[in-house]
Amino acid sequence: MVDLRKELGDIIRDYGSDYLLIKAKKTIPCKCVAGNHGTARDDCPVCLGTGYLVKAVRVRGRSAIAAIPETLPRMMSNAEPGQVAVPSKQFYLNYKSRPYRKDLIVVCEWDGNVPIIDEYSEIFEVNEVDPNRGDNGRIEYFIASAKGDPINSKVRLANIISNSKKEFYVSVGDEE
Ligand SMILES: [Zn+2]
Repeated sequence: MVDLRKELGDIIRDYGSDYLLIKAKKTIPCKCVAGNHGTARDDCPVCLGTGYLVKAVRVRGRSAIAAIPETLPRMMSNAEPGQVAVPSKQFYLNYKSRPYRKDLIVVCEWDGNVPIIDEYSEIFEVNEVDPNRGDNGRIEYFIASAKGDPINSKVRLANIISNSKKEFYVSVGDEE
């Protein structure tokens, strides 16, 4: 029998990349929510717009650009002025990563264990997680669909950089 967990593990070990997965701890709401009509502030330096306290882990995976319908170029040229095309990606992540909706995936370079967040880094917000299960129900890997945030990405990346030295931001560890 094919062991998908091992198959995908081998592929992303050999051909994948490391990502910074910023996990929102759903049990600890951020203070910014109360002062902002019940929704998180996109520019909040504490929760990075997730609405919860966050911790960062390094995960390994592989990304694919989400299927784009052929009609898209035409639709984009017809877009209303001021509309921003939102990039979206699918990330195939290791079964250990356990991503959730609202988590953030940062695509960046690494210096050993240290993520290098700079102007080339990209930030994606997970909007859907599909646990891919084998015959016995075991989760073999996750597909996290995530959308880019062209409007807020600069301030969010700047907040990630400044957070890396603060206590509410747990230093980067590998996925458990
Ligand atoms: Zn906040």
